[in-house]
Amino acid sequence: MYKGSCLCGNITYSITEELGEFGFCHCKSCRKASGSAHAANIGVEEQNFHLSDPQGRLTEYQSSPGKIRAFCGRCGSPLYAYLTKSENIVRVRLGSLDTDFDTLPSAHTFVSHKAHWEPIEGTLPQFPEWAPRAVLVQKGSKQP
Ligand SMILES: [Zn+2]
Ligand SMILES: [Zn+2]
Repeated sequence: MYKGSCLCGNITYSITEELGEFGFCHCKSCRKASGSAHAANIGVEEQNFHLSDPQGRLTEYQSSPGKIRAFCGRCGSPLYAYLTKSENIVRVRLGSLDTDFDTLPSAHTFVSHKAHWEPIEGTLPQFPEWAPRAVLVQKGSKQP
């Protein structure tokens, strides 16, 4: 249904479920992990996420207790993250998708942590930290 890959192409994946909703997260760790102003991550059932890594390039980093970030050890592309105690959900980095995906984000989250150099424009709702679940459900995250 959807395909994605890292920058060097050593790691590819496919997703065999319909992608749901997502937000732009401006928190400091998303900025560090993405190298940009915000992250765009989407929760996918692990059983529907199929990774191909014939060269064994996938590298994992535990950025905080129980939070694992997976990236290509050759080119550095972030691919997904997961919580060791979450219900078998991986949070895929949308920038690694190769298939067109036309859904727009639902919210800006952790705006109180955003970089001063990032202007946020438009009418998308903004939240200082987590969005309420009525606005955006972030599957597989620590969202309360
Ligand atoms: Zn790579
Ligand atoms: Zn974040």
